[in-house]
Amino acid sequence: MKLRRTAALAVAALALTATATACGGKEGSAGDKPATQPGGADAPPLPTYTVAKDVKLDSPTLKAAQQRGKLVIGSKADQPFLGFEDQATKKRSGFDIEIAKMLAADLGFSDSQIEWKTVDSGVRETAISKGQVDMYVGTYTINDNRKQQVGFAGPYYKAGADLLVRIDEKDINGKDSVKGKKVCSIVGSTPLKEIKKPEYGAEVVELAKYSDCVKQLIDKQVDAVTTDDAILKGYAAQNKKNLKVVGKPFTQEPYGVGLNKDDKELREALNKALETRIKDGTYQKIYAATLGLSGAPYQEPPAIERY
Ligand code: GLU
Repeated sequence: MKLRRTAALAVAALALTATATACGGKEGSAGDKPATQPGGADAPPLPTYTVAKDVKLDSPTLKAAQQRGKLVIGSKADQPFLGFEDQATKKRSGFDIEIAKMLAADLGFSDSQIEWKTVDSGVRETAISKGQVDMYVGTYTINDNRKQQVGFAGPYYKAGADLLVRIDEKDINGKDSVKGKKVCSIVGSTPLKEIKKPEYGAEVVELAKYSDCVKQLIDKQVDAVTTDDAILKGYAAQNKKNLKVVGKPFTQEPYGVGLNKDDKELREALNKALETRIKDGTYQKIYAATLGLSGAPYQEPPAIERY
């Protein structure tokens, strides 16, 4: 399938799925071909997860999930290679999705016992604290502010805010070059808070979803999109002909698994599961089969921070 990339088609490319890109044969090489997708024919295989039996924890969240026979997991749906939902098949893919499945298995829940809920950045704390999700895995930065409302296991990855620009952009080459530029980010995210600082002098556009910001960038309504480099690399990989990441991260964004603030048992169980799966190589396999395909270089997973 050869796409002639007009701006509109490039947006459509955001929705390309593993199956769709597989039609193109050898994908993922340089040039304008879409990157290999998680689960794609030439992608490294995804690990399988052994579902733990008879998990007993003094965790109200887990007990309720065991009773209903489903674990409700919040995630993103528009972040390729991280948390993505194919609108046609409703299949979810990406690094965060696999991390979530891995953790669910360690809590005793198979793939078919997971109920996914798409929760965008602006409503995460509400969804977690109101019990609308049992846990949340979606590029969720651990910070003290959020810790007042939710708990965090992890971190399991360290990202940093960066800038996504059009391929022919010459003026924007780092955080100090956004003065007077229209920069898009999303409600409730840490990079939005950062870019709104007066020192940057940017004209900030706030939207609800990163994919909306990316569309505006391609349509030349904004000059840049800012959020975590891991997220931006995914969009750039899907739109190689139109978009590039500047490559100079300017914040630290350690990703955690969000959960009920008071459920310390669950938090510790998730921390232990992360440590075990980093040690036994499952984490590394997940990375290679998902986020690694976007060109985000592998980094040693950070040490778990217990608090
Ligand atoms: N990691 C940042 C945050 O948690 C940006 C990505 C996102 O919005 O999910 O706010």
